[in-house]
Amino acid sequence: MSAGRLYLKPNRDRPIINRHPWIFSGAIRGLEGDPQPGDIIDIRAHDGRFLARGYWNPHSQIQARALTWDEEAIDDDWWLKTIRRAVTARAHYNGQADGGYRLIHAESDYLPGLIVDRYGRFLVMQALTLGIDKRRHLIADILATLLDVDGIYERSDADARKKEGLEIRNAHIWGHEPPEAITITEGGAVKIDVDVYNGHKTGFYLDQADNRALLSAHLRAEMPAARVLNLFSYSGGFGLHALTVPGATVTNVDASLDALELAEANIALNGFDAERAEHVQADVFDYLRDIADAGAVYDAVILDPPKFAQSKSQVERAARGYKDINLNALAVVRPGGYLMTFSCSGAITADLFQKIVFGALVDSGRDAQIVARLNATPDHPIALTFPEGDYLKGLLLRVY
Ligand code: SAH
Repeated sequence: MSAGRLYLKPNRDRPIINRHPWIFSGAIRGLEGDPQPGDIIDIRAHDGRFLARGYWNPHSQIQARALTWDEEAIDDDWWLKTIRRAVTARAHYNGQADGGYRLIHAESDYLPGLIVDRYGRFLVMQALTLGIDKRRHLIADILATLLDVDGIYERSDADARKKEGLEIRNAHIWGHEPPEAITITEGGAVKIDVDVYNGHKTGFYLDQADNRALLSAHLRAEMPAARVLNLFSYSGGFGLHALTVPGATVTNVDASLDALELAEANIALNGFDAERAEHVQADVFDYLRDIADAGAVYDAVILDPPKFAQSKSQVERAARGYKDINLNALAVVRPGGYLMTFSCSGAITADLFQKIVFGALVDSGRDAQIVARLNATPDHPIALTFPEGDYLKGLLLRVY
């Protein structure tokens, strides 16, 4: 059952027929019925044909998000079935008692607006839309029946909520309250303390797990005692993996003192000698220019900046930012060393990112090979129908 019917303008039904879940306000001709914001509505073509069913929010530019393309009821059973599908798809991860991984990846798991991450015996959930916000207790109860966890914390403080007319809500929603630090083990190799109350996103950047392991595998095989420069380090994830390589040393650089304190604590947590790591609070743009001028040299440089382009309109400016840091990072990699470089801007495609890095390479006068193309870990799948979900891309370059 749905509370209303949303009719699209003629010729505006192609994306939804192609199963893209977003209905922008400009595509809508009219509404029938009396739905409340957040209610389930039908999405119909201008001639009345049923196209999809989803939730509605008149306060958002994205007025509706489709949940199903079948004429099925969106009831408690539907939420159970769809959440269970996402959880089952993580069977590979679910058995790890101290694992950290993404359980539900919003649109890419056919649950628009819902993020759920697991840290050991706790879940952190993020409601990005009104449609999810209204059902958060139902969702928390379903998660608690499907997974053997101690508690669920809600970290609904993403900027995206403003566009939905929602306030921030950081609160415990089910079971026990999580401790101030939850210790997870990443890649069976490294312990990381996650602060779900104050950390970035839901507490940690889970999407980089495999890339951290890949880099350390290369270093271990090829470069004992590697000197590693970990730029935009946050809580030190890449650096911790690098420190599993005997003799390796790491410089973590971040603008945030809180992030660097987390990174230092994580080094101690793993029992690594504090002398093997250095922590620098700096703006990476300035820092790179300074060390490049000073002739610094590293065996491996990691460049994992925050999202420079929030939308398509910012792509050009973001591209200049990416080029700048990649140019200076290339300058400090020793011949034969590695640059692992990323963009997490959804608006920058993998093709464009490669072109930007190519531009930096040409200006640097260096040469480089792509050793691996990088993406988010498989617990962050990308629905083929939702290319916006393909946000993280990176290149592992061997630089000459
Ligand atoms: N590599 C990290 C995630 C990086 S997130 C990991 O593996 O977990 C981006 C980080 O960049 C954040 O910690 C943020 O504090 C930092 N940051 C943002 N702008 C910065 C700047 N201009 N200079 C230095 N650090 C910056």
